[in-house]
Amino acid sequence: MHVLITGGAGFIGSHLAERHLANGDQVYIVDNLSTGSLSNIDAFRGHPAFRFDEADILHWSGMDKAVAWADRIYHMAAVVGVKKVLEDPVAVMATNMTGTERILRAIHHGGWNPQVVIASTSEVYGFNAKSSFAETDDIVLPSAGRLRWAYAVTKLADEFLAFSYARKYGLHIVVVRLFNTIGPNQVGHYGMVVPSFVKQAVCNAPLTVYGEGDQTRSFCDVRDTVVALDRLAGCPEAWGEVVNVGNDQEISIRDLAELIVQRTHSQSPLHFMSYRDAYGEEFEDVTHRRPELNKLRALTGFAPEWSLRDTLDDLIKRECTKNLRVA
Ligand code: UDP
Repeated sequence: MHVLITGGAGFIGSHLAERHLANGDQVYIVDNLSTGSLSNIDAFRGHPAFRFDEADILHWSGMDKAVAWADRIYHMAAVVGVKKVLEDPVAVMATNMTGTERILRAIHHGGWNPQVVIASTSEVYGFNAKSSFAETDDIVLPSAGRLRWAYAVTKLADEFLAFSYARKYGLHIVVVRLFNTIGPNQVGHYGMVVPSFVKQAVCNAPLTVYGEGDQTRSFCDVRDTVVALDRLAGCPEAWGEVVNVGNDQEISIRDLAELIVQRTHSQSPLHFMSYRDAYGEEFEDVTHRRPELNKLRALTGFAPEWSLRDTLDDLIKRECTKNLRVA
């Protein structure tokens, strides 16, 4: 199979590439290296079935050819991370919406019909007060102008672009709402909690818990996530549908911090920070976020293999090894 991954040098994209190369597929990545990084794809850059182009999804001249080549496309290229979104909402709007429209238009104009996965996010549920979210739940977003929600709005637009192309032109598109995903290659620079805490704990630095730490999240190991995405892409019943992807084991951010300190045998204290101090402005955090996974299970039989503890132990080991190499 020919697999095109936009944003393939990023966190989830690089794991998709690894999985497909291991399966004997040909993999073509395009990435502008804004948040993605060459180090994520170093391991397979010399692989004969692998190709990488550095290009921005908004201006990539090779898009038509790549789309014609592909049997499957994972569209992962996006501006992500809360901090990045607050810093540069203009880039978020352009890349996340125009990039998606460009690729769908290229597929349709070429008359192709590859399997397509469009990456959306649990952020689209907004501040719906429920603690767990099913695909049929209402989206609750503020009425105007709060840029903190720019990412959610762009991803919702992507979802509707995908549904429109699927409905009008019969394209084989599945939209995935990714809940908190963790694992190797994820970096904390853009605000993600697990890589930040692991790094802090390994250095015996204070773990920066935002707010009271009562907010909860459900973390899915990326090596499970890519199994779900692979199965959904090839599942005709999923085409034209939106599906939650994640793990439904929930933990509060305070408990997560304590667990990481314990697994690291670290001396780190917890440092509780206001959202204003953390983000430079008031910030509406989502209090609880857990996926309902009935749809994913019914479509694919998906069951995650990685427990949170196993993922954390693996990440801690990798962080310690990295520090030893640097020292
Ligand atoms: N968070 C935290 N300390 C950090 C980074 C994040 O307490 O150094 C919190 C953040 O406020 C949120 C949760 O951890 O409540 C998950 O944050 P992340 O950015 O990883 O994911 P998201 O907010 O998109 O769920």
